[in-house]
Amino acid sequence: MTSIIVHYQEIALKGRNRPYFISKLVRNVRKQTADLGVKDVRALMGRIEVVLGPDADYGQVTDRLRHVFGIANFSKAGRTRVDLDVLGDAILADLEGHPPVTFRVSAKRGDKTFPMTSPEIERALGERIYETLHWPVKLDRPELAVHVELLAREAFYSFGKEKGAGGMPTGVSGRVACLMSGGIDSPVAAYRLMRRGCSVVPVHFHSYPFVTRASQEKVREIAALLSRYQMRTNLRLVPFGELQRQIVLSVAAPMRVVIYRRFMLRIAERIARDSRAKALVTGEVIGQVASQTLENMTVIAEATRMPILRPLVGMDKDEIVAEAIRLGTYDISIIPDQDCCQLFTPRSPETHARFWQVAEAEAKLPVEDMVKAAVEGTVTEEFRFPATGAAAADD
Ligand code: ATP
Ligand code: MG
Repeated sequence: MTSIIVHYQEIALKGRNRPYFISKLVRNVRKQTADLGVKDVRALMGRIEVVLGPDADYGQVTDRLRHVFGIANFSKAGRTRVDLDVLGDAILADLEGHPPVTFRVSAKRGDKTFPMTSPEIERALGERIYETLHWPVKLDRPELAVHVELLAREAFYSFGKEKGAGGMPTGVSGRVACLMSGGIDSPVAAYRLMRRGCSVVPVHFHSYPFVTRASQEKVREIAALLSRYQMRTNLRLVPFGELQRQIVLSVAAPMRVVIYRRFMLRIAERIARDSRAKALVTGEVIGQVASQTLENMTVIAEATRMPILRPLVGMDKDEIVAEAIRLGTYDISIIPDQDCCQLFTPRSPETHARFWQVAEAEAKLPVEDMVKAAVEGTVTEEFRFPATGAAAADD
């Protein structure tokens, strides 16, 4: 068996964008496996075939496929002529030495001109396997599911299926900028948007040299981890400490977090526009911490005209934590650091900020100059996966 058959999320890919989505998915699979000896990635009728070269390792290739959004499921497969005898021979040859199990055959016809219906194909091949191996047929939850797919020019067979990452191919939904702290929530928020086909530009605000570089190290690790999905990430590191120092000089302690957040949005908006991102993403959750009351979120959001996406807004903390653990970001996020928002802030911040308070506080600040200085001081670091791969998904 020298192929992998990839099925995509049919429903997500319906409509006029379908050919574009499929070609993007094919390109993404190609790039993800560029360094693994894959001979070809071909779009066939309704599925994609990954043709393994002699040096390709199935386990390595499937590990990459697990990180490609838009894939519903995949399986190792063999290819034959469109001839049931030849197909049956190949299946039996591959099952040689396999311990006896209950089985069933599931057939799909990509090409409806084949003279037998799918149930007829299933019955014919099922009988052939039964007569040769004497394994019991079990239609409901068999131990081995033999899948066959008959297309116009070739037939495929495979045993079992593995679930893919789901979602939509990276890049088809445009670019967004995600405000990424070193915390638990924002990496999960970034992942959620990636899974919907967005390329994510992480924007991190740090207060170095007022605090350690720990938070930057954490977001670097998170950026590297998320790059396994989107293949290229341009992390933006924004110096925020000097701006905070200025805020501290004129803004009363309880209002500081709200003002910090408004500056973050203004700066992120500039960075987003520069990188052609169309929306901002945060890891905000209603009521999770003092700064995330509905009142504060409203007053904070007013600082930008760009849409703010909050994919986690209605989730419970334990649900977010479970997803962070599954993603592998959790262990990075819980490493202690000094978050920039804890700098110069009191234990009990304002929970019901009002517009007039914000306007009054910001009237004393050279807002535009502060934003400009932070944008100008921003450093970009590029992460690529696979390291030896050619171009990236959002080219
Ligand atoms: P997280 O776990 O993502 O840090 P949180 O529950 O700690 O979220 P807050 O600290 O109130 O919540 O932050 C709310 C959101 O503001 C974050 O999810 C993130 O999108 C953004 N944010 C906060 N601090 C930073 C930062 N230093 N750099 C970039 N974005 C930040
Ligand atoms: Mg945080």
